[in-house]
Order: sequence, then structure tokens, then C-alpha cells
Amino acid sequence: ESIWQQTRIAHWQLAGCWPAAVLGGLAHYADDTRHPLKSPIDASELGWLSQATHAHTLHGISLGSAAYKEWRLIPAAKRGQMVATIAEKVRERRTALAALITLESGKIGSEADGEVQEWLDMCDFAIGLSRQLHGLTIASERPAHLLLEQWQPLGVVAVITAFNFPMAVWAWNAMLALVCGNAVIWKPSEKTPLCALAVQQLVNEALADCAAPPALCQLVNGDATTGSQLVNDPRVALISATGSCAMGLAVARLAAKRLARTLLELGGNNAAIVTPSADLELASRAIVFAAAGTCGQRCTSLRRLIVHQSVLPQLLSRLVNAYRSLAIGDPRQPGVLVGPLINKDARSRMQAALAQAQTEGGELLTGNEPLPCGLPDGAYVRPAIMAMPAQTGIVMQETFAPILYVLGYRQFDQAIALNNAVAQGLSSALFSNDLHELGQFIGPAGSDCGLANVNTGTSGAEIGGAFGGEKLTGGGRESGSDAWKCYMRRTTNTLNLGQALPLAQGVVFGL
Ligand code: NAD
Repeated sequence: ESIWQQTRIAHWQLAGCWPAAVLGGLAHYADDTRHPLKSPIDASELGWLSQATHAHTLHGISLGSAAYKEWRLIPAAKRGQMVATIAEKVRERRTALAALITLESGKIGSEADGEVQEWLDMCDFAIGLSRQLHGLTIASERPAHLLLEQWQPLGVVAVITAFNFPMAVWAWNAMLALVCGNAVIWKPSEKTPLCALAVQQLVNEALADCAAPPALCQLVNGDATTGSQLVNDPRVALISATGSCAMGLAVARLAAKRLARTLLELGGNNAAIVTPSADLELASRAIVFAAAGTCGQRCTSLRRLIVHQSVLPQLLSRLVNAYRSLAIGDPRQPGVLVGPLINKDARSRMQAALAQAQTEGGELLTGNEPLPCGLPDGAYVRPAIMAMPAQTGIVMQETFAPILYVLGYRQFDQAIALNNAVAQGLSSALFSNDLHELGQFIGPAGSDCGLANVNTGTSGAEIGGAFGGEKLTGGGRESGSDAWKCYMRRTTNTLNLGQALPLAQGVVFGL
């Protein structure tokens, strides 16, 4: 029985209904373990899940390799049509998909719906791209010669994803990988496997409708061990891994043993600089969304605020007021802006970080007030703002929770130095109406991050641009622009169209 068939055991009946009622008792794979699944909203049981065994994963890679050999020969535009079929199915079920994201990750409705929209945007992008996978022709130094550069499908692409975007990150990878002619095996986060099952069921239907190889897109639910197995297997041509820097380091070390290709999208420690000319009203709104939105659980969440001393008191008073009015609670309730953290461990890590910041001289400006009464049994927290005397040890780390550390600056160069002083290099923002500052920030001596925004926050990227970061964030680029090239291999062809045999660099080899 193929993994594809086994996935169908998990009858997905989400269409149009609130998923909790139908997900109980999902069976996926036949190992003996049963991992209970709980919603972060209220700790209610969502069902249980078995994990893929070593043998299942091995078998899945074999099936994926065979599917790739068929798929790579299908014209790219036809591969795009298959992605269009996926998009149709996503549109039909978008409400149920968004509801499942909320239920399993704790995101508010608008952000969950935005995540489904992001998947659709990726479909549109990939469909267009399927007619644009262009190479180059290059002038040859030799008479009657032609140099070509072509992009070829790569093979089986393993996609390892984090919990906080349980559908979109897979879509960034899979929609491109598929139009590029590859097979995909997905190892989702062990914290959000139901979203992955729902996605897989929908994709299975699209594959069947298009008579595409059933094992073209597969799912292996498991933990770091399953992830490592995919990294180790020489039949996997690319490992695209999204998650913490610690995970990326482990994956990179393992992949290096076989010089495997990796695409790493890892943690961030993102900063925004607010200068004296900034529109403080606009900046405050952007900062609150970036720092407190998604309960601080985006890789691009704002974690460090670097503010010119002259506007610091005004900005802080706006921010503290805005934070105090944030509606925190069950993300299914209308009006709620901040849902729970993913689990109680994440809350303990937030509390530990706040305590450490205080021992490092931090002053908690907001975040310790009592939570609203009557919250369900989830890891709810109040987003915190902590004024810091300097960029101390805890500020240099990514704590995946809504903590905003605030630092003052006097010279713009100093602000940029603070922005760049951390190990990660994902996102950054500048709030300023000064052209010189703007030019410096987005120029070669400015922000060293993959994303450098102006007068908008650090989070909430569009799919049209290449997404990713530098340094400990891993260097990978996904979604728009020319990120598709990561999912293909380049061949350079020298074609001799003449009857002589001139050698490159004028080399003479007389026989
Ligand atoms: P995590 O690192 O705990 O897990 C991510 C995934 O990696 C999971 O599927 C996990 O099972 C797998 N994994 C863990 N160790 C592994 C190993 N040694 N080998 C193979 N796979 C392994 O991350 P998380 O808690 O789910 O997500 C939060 C983190 O992800 C944050 O650091 C956040 O910044 C980052 N993130 C980054 C991006 C980005 O695009 N840069 C996007 C989303 C999240």
C-alpha cells in the first residue's frame, strides 16, 4: 500500500464544517504509537496521529523517485495546469482550511485566511512561471558555436516545515517544486499535522483529477528523526527546511556529509529603527502588528525596536497604550487580535526570557498585567515591551513569543550597527521620512538582512519577492522572484554547429 493510499485512510471531511467534529480518531500510518493532538486554543483533544516509520519513509522516497521520473517529462505548462487544479480545490474549501489553521495553530481568523490566500497566490505565481522557466543563450567565443543554459528538474524535494505557517510554507516550496518538474515529500511540524493531512487530501484529489503520478506529492508525519532520515537519503535531491536556527544547523551538518543541496529558512531576530522624521502614528500601528500579531510567532515578528532618543518617550507611550487595548483570547472570537502561544513550553520560555531581561537591566513597560477573565485553557500571554539598557545576551536571541525589546540611539550609524549586530539576518524595517537615511538603510552599508523594509513592518511579506535571510537565518530564498531556480539544476550546453573543431581559449591540439 503506497503512502498515498494510506493518506486517504485519513478521510478528510472538512468541507464547510468546523473541523473539530470530524478529525477525532484520524489514523495515519500503522505504527503502534498514538500521538494525542490538542488545540492550543483550549487544550481540547483533536484526535490522535501515528507517525511514519523508518520503512514508510524509505518506501515513500522510492515512490517519489519513480513519480519524479515520469513527471520531469511532462511539459512545464501542463505541470502548471495541475497546480491550477490544486488552486480550484483550495478556493472551494478555503473557509474550512482557514478554520483548521486557527484550530491547530491558534492564529486569528483573518491571519489564517491570509495564509490560505498566500497558498492561492503561490498557485497563481507558479502557474504563470510554468510558462516562463527560461534559460539563456550566450555568445560563444568560437565560430559557429552556441552556448545554452537550461534549467532541468532536480528530483525528490524534501520539505520540512515549522508549526507557525502550517500550510503556506509548504505551498511556497511545493507549488514551485511541482511546476519545476520535481516530486515532493513533506515532513510537517509535529505540532500541526492535521493541517498537513488536510492539504495532502486536497492534493491527492488534484493529482487524481489530472492523472498525475499519485506519489508526486507525499506526506510523512514524524519528528526530527523522520526529518533526519530525509536529509540522509541520497535519493533526496534538495532539502528545504524551515524552522529554528538549531534545526538548520543540525540539518546543514548532516546534509554536508553527502554535500546535499539545502534551502534553509531559519529563525530571525528582527529589528525596526524609528528615526526623528518618522510618522509615529503609522510606525506605532506597524510595530504593534509586527510585534504582537500572531502572538509574536512569525519568523519575521518584530523583536527589537531601535528608537532615536528624541522620539522615544512619545513612541513608547503610544505603544504601551496600544498594547493595553489589545484583545487577547480565543482566536475564533471576532475582534480578538492575539490568540494563544502554541503550547505551555513556549509560555515558559517567554517568562524565562522576561526574567532574564530584567536581570540584564531591562524594565518591563507592559506585559505583566492580569489576563482577561474566562480564557480557555491555552497558553495565553500578554505581549510585552521591555526597555533595555543595551543589546544584552537575551536580546541577541530569538524567543518565539511576543516580547519587544526597546533600545535608544543617538547616531543613525549606531542604529544600523545595532540592527546588524545579531547572528540572524532575516527581516528589518526603517521608519523615516529622510531620504538619506532611507538610502543608507537599503544600500550596501545598511541593513544586512534579506528583507529591508521602509515605513512598513518587518512581517507580512508578499509572495512576489524572494523571501529569506542571511547569516544564521540560513541564506535560502523562497517564493517569488527567481527563487524557482533553487528547485532546478542548471546545465550549460556547448553546441558546435560548424564542421571545424576550434578549441576554447585558442588551445591548439594538433593530431
Ligand atoms: P523547529 O525547529 O522546532 O521545527 C521545525 C521543523 O524541523 C519541524 O518539522 C521539526 O520536526 C523539524 N526538525 C527539528 N529538528 C530537526 C532535525 N535535526 N532534522 C530534521 N528536521 C528537524 O521550529 P518550530 O518551533 O516549529 O518553528 C519556529 C521556528 O521556525 C522559529 O525559529 C522561526 O523563526 C522559524 N521559522 C522560520 C521561517 C523562515 O521562513 N525563515 C518561517 C517560519 C518559521
